[in-house]
Amino acid sequence: MEKWSVVRCPACRNCHGTRTRARQCPHCGQSLSSDTPIVATADSAAQLRIEVALANTPEEIRDELRKKLEATQEPLVSINSTSPRRLYALIVEHVGKDGVMHRSDVENVLAKVESEMDVDDLLDQLEINGTIIRRQDGTWQLLE
Ligand SMILES: [Zn+2]
Repeated sequence: MEKWSVVRCPACRNCHGTRTRARQCPHCGQSLSSDTPIVATADSAAQLRIEVALANTPEEIRDELRKKLEATQEPLVSINSTSPRRLYALIVEHVGKDGVMHRSDVENVLAKVESEMDVDDLLDQLEINGTIIRRQDGTWQLLE
């Protein structure tokens, strides 16, 4: 996996994130040699933002800041949790043992997680995936 690095400029002491080895400090323009020490690494741009902010923060308040910054990452997690896969898992919990799904079941689940996904879009996706099959009475049979 490609890594992101946080390096500290030897001239101005500011840290910044970089995908490759830094060549120039974005703060003061100092040319950075290839042996500029890496103070932290990150697996993603989101993680990199946190590491840069922490590196530029006095040590004594870093722990507190890390908690705050990592807490602000949570919206990303909840977007993932409303993927069609996740929504389907919630629908399965919602639907009775007979596995018959009503349109209102889907609407309820989407409302519950405050998803902006359209009911019909989700139904289409699940049908295309072969996760559900449309019945003649306008309900759906869960297949998984
Ligand atoms: Zn600098």
